[in-house]
Amino acid sequence: MKYIDEFQNPQLAQRLLDDIKATVTRPWALMEVCGGQTHTIIRHGIDQLLPEGVELIHGPGCPVCVTPLEVIDKALEIASRPDVIFCSFGDMLRVPGTGRDLFQVRGEGGDVRVVYSPLDALRIAEENPDRQVVFFGIGFETTAPPNAMTVYQARKRGIRNFSLLVSHVRVPPAIEAIMQSPDCRVQGFLAAGHVCSVMGTQEYPELAERFKVPIVVTGFEPLDILEGVRRTLQQLERGEHIVDNAYPRAVRAEGNPAAQAMLDDVFEVTDRSWRGIGVIPDSGWRLSSRYRDYDAEYRFDVGDITTREPAACRSGEVLQGLLKPHECEAFGTTCTPRTPLGATMVSSEGACAAYYLYRRLDLPSRPPAAASTADSTSAPTPASTPASTPAPTSASTPDLEGSSVV
Ligand code: SF4
Repeated sequence: MKYIDEFQNPQLAQRLLDDIKATVTRPWALMEVCGGQTHTIIRHGIDQLLPEGVELIHGPGCPVCVTPLEVIDKALEIASRPDVIFCSFGDMLRVPGTGRDLFQVRGEGGDVRVVYSPLDALRIAEENPDRQVVFFGIGFETTAPPNAMTVYQARKRGIRNFSLLVSHVRVPPAIEAIMQSPDCRVQGFLAAGHVCSVMGTQEYPELAERFKVPIVVTGFEPLDILEGVRRTLQQLERGEHIVDNAYPRAVRAEGNPAAQAMLDDVFEVTDRSWRGIGVIPDSGWRLSSRYRDYDAEYRFDVGDITTREPAACRSGEVLQGLLKPHECEAFGTTCTPRTPLGATMVSSEGACAAYYLYRRLDLPSRPPAAASTADSTSAPTPASTPASTPAPTSASTPDLEGSSVV
């Protein structure tokens, strides 16, 4: 497949790995910001192929994972109302709130529907003028523009029975919070390429300069990750800290001006709570005062709901890169994809889910009986055999300089 297969080429991967090995002279710790990048890294065993001492720390860039418990509880409260049709992407339905999830609300009679676009929810609102239709708008700079566009369309078309439950978050303040943490070990960032395809790169040079940290915009295929790692390590070894775009096939410096204009029109920056981390100043968006009528929190008066995170789940430490998923006591035992204690075990971009899915159990060997009781919904890929590790081959090596990844 165009733009997929060539970025999984094993010969090019080996050449990038050779270059990385020739570059590194000491230990370094890099953070990949996005959960999609984490899944690529774990699925392909990229972290295991890097030189000893080069560590990849998994960042907070999973939108489902960072949505705070109190927002989930607000969604559960709204979705339980008989006059409401609650629409969401599918990955939010199994995220545990306090005591239940959206699937359980649906089982109890709530009208909870999975949609593939916020515009699907708007169409449902048009078709059901006697019902209130709410779309669960979560995510980073990538999902915020279509949600903003949907609210814009609702107002323009006079669809009054539609509203948005908003929990959008922004990457740059999260990077700032991570770098200001006293426990921070991150020395370089692989920035999320899809976020930068919307926002461009102009938000990052100030962060790179202030924290003396290289930030390399990176894509999501194995070669994208390796190239991002290579460029970050080259900067670190040279003592540099600039913003570099290693994902030019999708990212321009200016980003997507039309999407940014829509964000500016519909949303305003606000402090936002991140699950397991707490409030990060200016790290989110809410509907601006001009669109407040479309804010489900106001329409259903759930703004006062507050909750406390379950003590057993250490996803806050996982999301800050302070803990690897398999180091959590509950990982793979009381917490599995079927019995998740935290969103990081549910989401398709969650680090705990990635470690479970690709069998990074890394626990003392368990007796067969105990192992067989573990959840087995995921493909059993032996930990020693990464799913599709870009392995070296003896085939002739394509010209790396001719590749768009370098
Ligand atoms: S393994 Fe489960 S309990 Fe532990 S941090 Fe991950 S989601 Fe939370």
